[in-house]
Amino acid sequence: MELNRRSLLLLLLLSLLALILLVSSAAAAAAAADVHDDDDSIVARFQRYLRINTAQPSPDYAQSTDFLLSEAKSLALEGRAVEFVPGKPVVLLRWPGSDPSLPSVLLNSHTDVQPAEDGKWSHPPFAARADAEGRIYARGSQDMKCVGMQYLEAIRRLKRSGFAPLRDVYLSFVPDEEIGGHDGAAKLAESDEFRAMNVGIVLDEGLASPMEYYRAFYGERCPWWLVIKATGAPGHGAKLYDNTAMENLLKSIESVRRFRASQFNLVKAGLKAEGEVISVNMVFLKAGTPSPTGFVMNLQPSEAEAGFDVRVPPTADPKALMTRIAEEWAPISRNMTFEFKQKVSPHDALGNPILTATDSSNPWWALLEEAVKKANGKLGSPEIFPASTDARYFRDLGLPAIGFSPMANTPVLLHDHNEFLSKTEYLRGIEIYESIIKAYASHAGPPGDGGSKDEL
Ligand SMILES: [Zn+2]
Repeated sequence: MELNRRSLLLLLLLSLLALILLVSSAAAAAAAADVHDDDDSIVARFQRYLRINTAQPSPDYAQSTDFLLSEAKSLALEGRAVEFVPGKPVVLLRWPGSDPSLPSVLLNSHTDVQPAEDGKWSHPPFAARADAEGRIYARGSQDMKCVGMQYLEAIRRLKRSGFAPLRDVYLSFVPDEEIGGHDGAAKLAESDEFRAMNVGIVLDEGLASPMEYYRAFYGERCPWWLVIKATGAPGHGAKLYDNTAMENLLKSIESVRRFRASQFNLVKAGLKAEGEVISVNMVFLKAGTPSPTGFVMNLQPSEAEAGFDVRVPPTADPKALMTRIAEEWAPISRNMTFEFKQKVSPHDALGNPILTATDSSNPWWALLEEAVKKANGKLGSPEIFPASTDARYFRDLGLPAIGFSPMANTPVLLHDHNEFLSKTEYLRGIEIYESIIKAYASHAGPPGDGGSKDEL
């Protein structure tokens, strides 16, 4: 009897212990689920953003603004939409830091996307469907709704983990990047609102990387849209004579082609990265005397024009290029003239290349490298972005800006048909940003740093 009672007591004790263990492990599991939202709902939020059709030329900014502000609300972030230009909202969110006197961190992304030719896609570009391999097909999946949502998801995780930022963290969702950003990031950068944000570092878009490492950009090539024009005496189509407009233009085109090949060869030989050379591509040819059936065939025209999209990296010498254009591509000696449809200087007012430092003078670069490594990611060497992004408006102010979109093992498909991003890479990117935002937002800076430009 005594033994029975004792074993009964023991059994009771044991089952009590088991119950406690069970309850506590269930609570732990629930807590874990809370910290790491399940992947499906994270991906679903991304898909919701992708399904809002913000394609140029008529992006649905009303819907994207509503969506972003409601996401901000769910994260308890301060949020507002500012229209520097009517109908072109900039959504500004703020996660206040404990020391708002320190320069803030700005996470920028654009809300608009390139138009998509539906018929040429194997998946509808605004359905954001995932295939069996987990690839999400949508316009904006790489450029750059992924980044905008990853910032928010990273903040969601940091908040749930109890992290509190030291610096203010701002998010800007800007319109119109795909058409030059003049009514978006440009207006934001010159606004009083922006000055009040006291930004110390800007993160903006980069490019996907087909390799296992991520790419980061510290500058970008500047567009020089060049039109060269040749004039010459018109003449009979059967007559051989010097200095015709066509002959003179063709000599220039040959010269441009030789230069293009020399630059391209440097890339092909692996001596320079794509963004480090001057790219030149002929985009139009305009010549000939029109007739009702096409062109007059027995007349040599008196004018001929060609247009080139030239992209100049800040590391190139713009003066040397100007000399080349004036002396080789459009020399006055061949009756040629030239003009620029657009010419953005790769140098600032003092003549210095507009580049974000990647050495010890810029702590943000080292912090980025460390943070990516900490999240088990790899970062490639700093690159110059081959085209233009909104980052230029911030660099023009003298601010450091880094172009970074965490997409490794992914083909570069921005502006292409069937743009996609895999769920795995998207989720990995959130972990990477979690690490970066944590490092940036808790960076104390040098002693006495109260918003000085020392660390810039
Ligand atoms: Zn973009």
